[in-house]
Amino acid sequence: MAEAPAAEKTQRPIVPFLKIPTDPSKKPYLAGSRCKQCGAIYLGNRMACSRCFSAEPMDEVPLSDTGELHVFSIVHQSAPGVPTPYIAAIVDLPEGISVRCNIAGVEPDPKNLKFGMPVKMVTEKIRTDREGNDVVAFSFRPV
Ligand SMILES: [Zn+2]
Repeated sequence: MAEAPAAEKTQRPIVPFLKIPTDPSKKPYLAGSRCKQCGAIYLGNRMACSRCFSAEPMDEVPLSDTGELHVFSIVHQSAPGVPTPYIAAIVDLPEGISVRCNIAGVEPDPKNLKFGMPVKMVTEKIRTDREGNDVVAFSFRPV
């Protein structure tokens, strides 16, 4: 009896709205939904538009990978196993969307952070799941 081929290892985004193209020349991006009726854009999938109440299926649109730091907080205590301190933040994208995320690439010190500073999305492998796939998370870092 022939053995089943080993399953292809893939990259698994940690949230469904983080899209990782299989083509390595294309960059990961956050996906939004655009209302066909009024053009409002939301992060991730939406069943209905909260602006015009349309329940028509929305178009998936790629969101910008750059934005501005809207607000941040340096977290010193978290769940067991989560390394602290880290920077929890909300980043505003040019599409008018706010994204909850962590800020990476700088020491978690208020002197390194400014409200409104430009940031860019990055992705990194944070762990390997039980099937051996890379689990990929996104964060933003100052540009
Ligand atoms: Zn709408």
